[in-house]
Amino acid sequence: MLSVDEALDRLLAGIGSTEVDRVPLADALGRVPVETPLASEHDVPPFANSAMDGYALRAADGDAERTVIGESRAGGAAAPDVVAGAAVRIMTGAPVPDGADTIVPIEEAEERDGVLSVASTPRAGTHVRAAGHDVRRGEAVHLPRSPLTPSVIGLLAAMGHSELDVHRRPRVAILSTGDELLPPGVPLGHGQIHDANGPALAAAVTEAGAEPIVLAPAPDDPGVIEGRIRQGLEEGDMLIASGGVSVGEHDHVRGVIERLGTLDFWRIAVQPGKPLAFGRVFERPVIGLPGNPVSALVTFELFVRPVLRAMLGLTGDGRLRVRARVDEAIGKDPARRAYLRVRVEHEGTGYRAISAGGQSSSRLLTLASANALLVVPEGAAATEPGETYEAILLGAVA
Ligand code: AMP
Ligand code: MG
Repeated sequence: MLSVDEALDRLLAGIGSTEVDRVPLADALGRVPVETPLASEHDVPPFANSAMDGYALRAADGDAERTVIGESRAGGAAAPDVVAGAAVRIMTGAPVPDGADTIVPIEEAEERDGVLSVASTPRAGTHVRAAGHDVRRGEAVHLPRSPLTPSVIGLLAAMGHSELDVHRRPRVAILSTGDELLPPGVPLGHGQIHDANGPALAAAVTEAGAEPIVLAPAPDDPGVIEGRIRQGLEEGDMLIASGGVSVGEHDHVRGVIERLGTLDFWRIAVQPGKPLAFGRVFERPVIGLPGNPVSALVTFELFVRPVLRAMLGLTGDGRLRVRARVDEAIGKDPARRAYLRVRVEHEGTGYRAISAGGQSSSRLLTLASANALLVVPEGAAATEPGETYEAILLGAVA
């Protein structure tokens, strides 16, 4: 059995990033920019403007009265130049007229019959936002190496970009295998269950920033599985199967990978999810995940998500990690590193983790109720009450 770290290294070896897609900014949320840094086409803001509603004037005139000679509105016509003894009424975001160097807010001034008196002597530069004070023209802006967020999209728009080069979303073919599977919505007959892995893995693929191609589930028939894998790899950059990967008489996924391509490994010392087959078919990665939905999703998290991120030019799994204290003994297999389903909560300045329920890999409700995976190393037979462990956050902490 491979260790988790060794398996991940082997999965990531030879994974390259996808080519460039040019997308309008409106479609850029969650996409990963290819080109960084990006240059601003102009100063942001493009011109000196007022941070307040008030009056643009010259500080050198001190506390003397000024004549109001016009108005500067955001998006309005140019206001007259401000000469000595003059002031221009100005709104937030409006250009500071030539000659003015200071804004006196409306609350600190009084205008009567076109004559302005100020409460005190203004200081030059007050409430003036200089051109380029956010980003200067030509300045190299380094975008975070992560999926684009609303603030970055806003910044790019302010910089004058309407489109952006991003990595193409990797296409991931998803294949559920098992004679017992029926699509959700179809009434179950004897011994049948609904396919949970297909929808769950498609969602996990989407969440990771990739594009799922959901294939029709295959029965435990090597010929059909082979046909589906061929079909999936016509379009898919990679394929994820679930089920049929262990040592049972009706487990055929591994054999099909070996027949069509090469098998790299098929067992990892991880709980849940020991049987996991990785190989290459037609030069593309094929990963056979275990059938239990918990095992399928946890191994996706540990082994597929980082691969998809590598294809997007990212590193790691993109998850936050915290140290969380455990007050109970949650049992595990000492031979494997465990990823236990827990609920992480705030406690004082730190965190504590509570088992989300039965840790049997057939209990999907426990994963659905968890917001983190607690990492318990090889060697331990249970968590040690009072001990802290690394928790991989999958969702928000209440
Ligand atoms: P297998 O890996 O094929 O031995 O399957 C292990 C367990 O996971 C069995 O109880 C299967 O019925 C179940 N299972 C396999 N595939 C799915 C699926 N797509 N959705 C829900 N359960 C599944
Ligand atoms: Mg099966």
